Amino acid sequence: MTTTSPTTEFDLARTLKQLCAIGAPSGHEDRLIVFVNDWLTERGLTPTIDRLGQITVSFPGSDPEANSVLVSAHLDQLGLVVSNVDANGYVRFERLGGVPERVLPGTRIVIHTSKGDVPAVVGLKSHHLTPPEDKYKALPTASLYLDLGADSAAAVEALGVRVGDPCVYEFSWTELDGGRFSTTSLDDRLGVAALLALVERLIDASPAGTVHVAFTTQEEFHVRGTLALIQKLDPDIVINVDVAPAADTPDLAGATAVKLGEGPVLNRLSFHGRGTLGGLIPHPALLEAADAAAAAVCDSFQYEVIIGLINDAAFVPMASGKGIATMGVAIPTRYTHSPIETAQLTDLEQTVILLERLAGDCASLNLERPRL
Ligand SMILES: [Zn+2]
Repeated sequence: MTTTSPTTEFDLARTLKQLCAIGAPSGHEDRLIVFVNDWLTERGLTPTIDRLGQITVSFPGSDPEANSVLVSAHLDQLGLVVSNVDANGYVRFERLGGVPERVLPGTRIVIHTSKGDVPAVVGLKSHHLTPPEDKYKALPTASLYLDLGADSAAAVEALGVRVGDPCVYEFSWTELDGGRFSTTSLDDRLGVAALLALVERLIDASPAGTVHVAFTTQEEFHVRGTLALIQKLDPDIVINVDVAPAADTPDLAGATAVKLGEGPVLNRLSFHGRGTLGGLIPHPALLEAADAAAAAVCDSFQYEVIIGLINDAAFVPMASGKGIATMGVAIPTRYTHSPIETAQLTDLEQTVILLERLAGDCASLNLERPRL
């Protein structure tokens, strides 16, 4: 170990930016797996990586009777997948996760190939030639295409692009006023950054209950990576850390109670509502503990009730015969799933403080039901 404490060396904002710059589409998270694994091993820790690419690092508790807790965030980001190449070198694609079609035209894309990264743009009808009836239309994926600059299928093949190759939004980072920033893949690099910061704080701690910190894969694809970790780790409690869509913009005002700058979000209900009966109602004792922890250590915190969102927490409670006390802690984020996701550093910092306190408080929670 160095003579300086890791906590003082750790720069949360810098780490977040590094994380966002690494492309990790669902199922192809390897670059980020390497980064996080190296980051953990450099701190003298011994993470494990399962066959799904999910990373776990465990901090054993001193009390065998205490609850164990798994704190998780997902490594992957949504993207596109190459589905076909036409004779003129235009590349067709499908969405990988919930990419909003309406942001795609005019967007810069990077294709991950076995030969390296290939830049592309999503084409769109030149404005001068767009008929009035098309000007306000969002187009489905099937009518969109990637332009690589290549003018034949052979030229695309020469670049190393194959059917099945994943793509991500090109990384960019814009500093905004008020400690806010706009970039790609804040969903869920905010969560990953929060967990790395939590790890920093756990290195010198001696928790009563075991704390597992885990980084899942393919959340944007199937929201079930945590289930494999539960079979391996058998935790009593799961705290899933992801983003919460902020509804404090003119177009969304009032849709949920979540705002940028108001601190960490305690999810009280999420439900997908699009055909899957998936979502989460937090365990009451765990929510109460989160409430108390947030009131004690955070400048402010907020609640979320949201229809239209599902994440890695959705199927966790039923993943073990004893039932798992589960909740979602989230970081407010504007423009989710777009290339300009926007967040505020203080919200991330406050989330880290909350997670540290809550992970410790979980050890002695009474999780029995009924709870009246
Ligand atoms: Zn997410």
